[in-house]
Amino acid sequence: MQKNDWQTEQDAKIIRQEKQKARELRKSQWWKNRRAGNSCYYCETPTPARQLTMDHLVPLARGGRSVKSNLVPCCKSCNTQKKNLLTIEWIEFLEKIKKNK
Ligand SMILES: [Zn+2]
Repeated sequence: MQKNDWQTEQDAKIIRQEKQKARELRKSQWWKNRRAGNSCYYCETPTPARQLTMDHLVPLARGGRSVKSNLVPCCKSCNTQKKNLLTIEWIEFLEKIKKNK
């Protein structure tokens, strides 16, 4: 189904708002505690807190929101992989990680 311009405009507005929320959460004590584990949510590689990025489990573009339950610390390598992989490939990647645990 094609989206009309109004919906696209609304989506863009929501994504802007959610990005702003994420920026604010990044400054919060909650996020500091979250990163203090010094490991990536996905691959659990030990990573210094300041090198962990904030990642949306469900991307904003897919309807995810900047809520605490949807935000996880992610290492640079997973972040890059996530960007380069299709959603389905990323899910397979996560499955593989789970099996190795
Ligand atoms: Zn990782």
